[in-house]
Amino acid sequence: MKVCECKTLTKCDFSGCSNWAKYSFATKGIFKHDLCFCQDCLKQMYEALAKMQTPKPIESPFKYGKKLKKISEEKL
Ligand SMILES: [Zn+2]
Repeated sequence: MKVCECKTLTKCDFSGCSNWAKYSFATKGIFKHDLCFCQDCLKQMYEALAKMQTPKPIESPFKYGKKLKKISEEKL
């Protein structure tokens, strides 16, 4: 699956949206046709997906500092 710039002049596929599509989602037959959407809908879709995804735990800076210290000690 790949998002590319829409080459043909197509209306945005999202219901209630009357913008021209700027991007298309190449689905290689998963959908009947490529999903075309505009910049606004891309942003909305991205925000919705971001909310769904659980963020990866970030390593605490404290831990990281310890690791760095160890490396510098090894160098000495
Ligand atoms: Zn749209």
